[in-house]
Amino acid sequence: METLFPESDRKIILDAIAEAERSTSGEIRIHIEKSSGKEPVLDRAADIFLSLGMDKTAAKNGVLIYLAVEDHQFAIIGDTGIDAVVPPDFWVTVRNVMQEHFVKKEFTTGLQKGILLAGEQLKAHFPFHKDDTDELTNEISFGK
Ligand code: CA
Ligand code: CA
Repeated sequence: METLFPESDRKIILDAIAEAERSTSGEIRIHIEKSSGKEPVLDRAADIFLSLGMDKTAAKNGVLIYLAVEDHQFAIIGDTGIDAVVPPDFWVTVRNVMQEHFVKKEFTTGLQKGILLAGEQLKAHFPFHKDDTDELTNEISFGK
């Protein structure tokens, strides 16, 4: 999977997360793998969310963008603190923007734009505070 995302692409994604997290206290992570296997994509994403310890943020505002490249599937999962305050269609715009790029196999651009948009959306509900810490690493997590 890593080979699909060379160093230069990873940097674009890392920079996008860093930029998004300068607007919001929300913590965005990316997990990329070939396939979610037999599991429905949302279930798989929820498992990854927990296995990355993303449920441990103070404000329960972790966001996982999960991408199964060969399945052409992805999911965005926000923690309970986000679900409690945002409307059900909160992620629709982000999802649509990502989808537009993913169908063209523009994975890096899709992730970059999705991350930046997620940051902007989250800003309204979870603004950045000056004493904010980086609770979850911005490093991309790669599966098999
Ligand atoms: Ca933070
Ligand atoms: Ca972070």
